[in-house]
Amino acid sequence: MLRIEDYAPIVGQATIYELFRLARQLEGKAIQNINSTAVGGGVAEILSRMMPLLKQLGLNARWDVIKGNEKFYAVTKKFHNGLHGVPVEVSREEYDWFLEINRQNAEEFDFADIVFVHDPQPIALIEKRASIGRNWVWRCHIDSSQPNKAIWRFLERYITMYDAAVFSAPAFEARLPIRQVLISPSIDPLSDKNKDLPEDVVNATFERYGIDRSRPVVTQISRFDFLKDPLGVIKAYKMAKRSMDMQLVLAGGGATDDPEGPMIMEQVKAEADKDKDIFVLFLPPSSDLEINALQRGSTIVLQKSLREGFGLTVSEALWKGKPVIAGAVGGIPLQIRHQYSGILTHSIEGTAQWIKRLLSEPEFAAKLGSNGREHIRNNFLITRHIKDYLLLFLSLFYADDIVHFS
Ligand code: UDP
Repeated sequence: MLRIEDYAPIVGQATIYELFRLARQLEGKAIQNINSTAVGGGVAEILSRMMPLLKQLGLNARWDVIKGNEKFYAVTKKFHNGLHGVPVEVSREEYDWFLEINRQNAEEFDFADIVFVHDPQPIALIEKRASIGRNWVWRCHIDSSQPNKAIWRFLERYITMYDAAVFSAPAFEARLPIRQVLISPSIDPLSDKNKDLPEDVVNATFERYGIDRSRPVVTQISRFDFLKDPLGVIKAYKMAKRSMDMQLVLAGGGATDDPEGPMIMEQVKAEADKDKDIFVLFLPPSSDLEINALQRGSTIVLQKSLREGFGLTVSEALWKGKPVIAGAVGGIPLQIRHQYSGILTHSIEGTAQWIKRLLSEPEFAAKLGSNGREHIRNNFLITRHIKDYLLLFLSLFYADDIVHFS
């Protein structure tokens, strides 16, 4: 098992001491994370890495997943898309079903001293708060800069019952009467998904999928979600391919709380079937080493999202020193300064142009990758994330003192 001290060579010993000192201040406080899926997507990814480290810091921390069903996830996917600004219609009956499932879950939970609720799916658990009065924080991982108004109005009723709301990027902050905190997500540099890999493991992965590493490989790894624009990626690849040789890898799986995945994947496959240089790979959960190898062995990594909460896949690729071309949306511009630590694009045509330019200027591409890696080291590793959370939790208990001394 990884020890928190193993992170010292990457982030410095002082950072590790600091985490232990902060954690000591939270002795005796139980911390409970609640979300809606144990696997798939960025939230599960972060929680699965963070929980063992919080425990090693001596914290009484746990992670619970709400139980839903197909109908519930169909509604919450509408909330997800609606927060991202996509037009959606939610009926009265669907809102009621959403609340009913939240109430059923609330009955089963034993809430801790700090209840840290992730994203809209479990948001209405807060209704239970009145009877038990704990510290509740809502963590929004979604790009909520231009939300669908009806969805936002519905969720706002619940958000405002929390003590604080956490957003991933400044652009997502909303006009709310509660405290708002900016905390960006992070990656774990020592996880199977991000640790260093021997070259032969990378080669073996590419061979297994029949991808030729002697030719350029452009890769996007994402859930099959239309907001990740996989069809736009295929169009950009086709445009670029008119003048340069390359292969395209679109790899991803689903999340248990995302019912749209299979349909999008079928559309992608139908497009890809016409071209033997496009590889559509369905990744089951626990494909971390494959994802690591695919990112490491690619010439360019794409994340052509149309909306994005943060985009952990961008951090993952930058950490591996890869040149990344990504949509200038959501939390991605926090990670990429255009032409310094990667490339930000706004269109299919722009993406195609930049693919060609980076393939023909490998030194420039390598510089983007190495700048990107340092940016991730300084800002988006898990130790910084834990520190921000501990400070937030402490502030819940000492908020009066903060007001008093300021
Ligand atoms: N991921 C994965 N398997 C997949 C697709 C994605 O493990 O098939 C991971 C990916 O490596 C990243 C996370 O899931 O760690 C996705 O996070 P991101 O913020 O990029 O997007 P989200 O899915 O949360 O919208």
